[in-house]
Amino acid sequence: MASFQFLGTGASAGIPVIGCKCDICHSTSACNKRMRPAGLLRVDGKKILIDVGPDFRQQALQFGIDHVDGLLLTHTHSDHIAGVDDLRIFFVRGHKPVPCLLSQESAQELCKRYDYLFAQPKDKASLTAQLELHILKHNMGHTEFLGLRIGYCSFYQSSMQVTGWKIGRFAYISDIREYEISIFDALQGTDLLVLSALRKEASPLHLTLDEAVVFARRVGAKKTYLTHISHTLEHESTNRFLPPDVQLGYDGQQLEFSL
Ligand SMILES: [Zn+2]
Ligand SMILES: [Zn+2]
Repeated sequence: MASFQFLGTGASAGIPVIGCKCDICHSTSACNKRMRPAGLLRVDGKKILIDVGPDFRQQALQFGIDHVDGLLLTHTHSDHIAGVDDLRIFFVRGHKPVPCLLSQESAQELCKRYDYLFAQPKDKASLTAQLELHILKHNMGHTEFLGLRIGYCSFYQSSMQVTGWKIGRFAYISDIREYEISIFDALQGTDLLVLSALRKEASPLHLTLDEAVVFARRVGAKKTYLTHISHTLEHESTNRFLPPDVQLGYDGQQLEFSL
């Protein structure tokens, strides 16, 4: 068995939203407190991060992440990458760069936004986080990473190309708005799906709850957990409204899947 843990299930602003007076931002339920979207896979004794957003340091402290063996990057919007500098501690301590699997587009954008990470030699004197980039060759397919077989597919959020990941019977699809029908071929055999859905109302950048249910059913996942959730969705009441096979996730939630 392998597992996935939600490190964050919030939309890009996080919940509570700074200065917001709404009931959900003031809720005392832990399930309504959402850090920026990220996850941790535990597979074959390895810890693999999915995204490293601005709450990464807090997530690592709260969920006891003392090392990472690799990073799967979905895309380079700030809510998914802005914690990359905090990977520095792993280089300071272990003197090994973190292997990072990502698309060609993400690699180009990462090198532009974080040029200083790539300007220094990967030696012990480096003062920054260090990544060892493993760049995907295609838009869809399989590759080997850390000795594991990793499936991947591409889709779009506005003009940004985003990568989805599939490991065994688990898939992680975040920040999806436009996609080709062939994505359902890539996701065949998914039992456990993590899928982004922002809110009930339409969004130019995300699926709605209804659209997410349709997508999940088309994938045929036995169970789908939603992430990237806005402050318009209260955890308990939204889960009562959703069908039992598609539910909101919460920060810290652990899910098992088979490889
Ligand atoms: Zn609010
Ligand atoms: Zn996002």
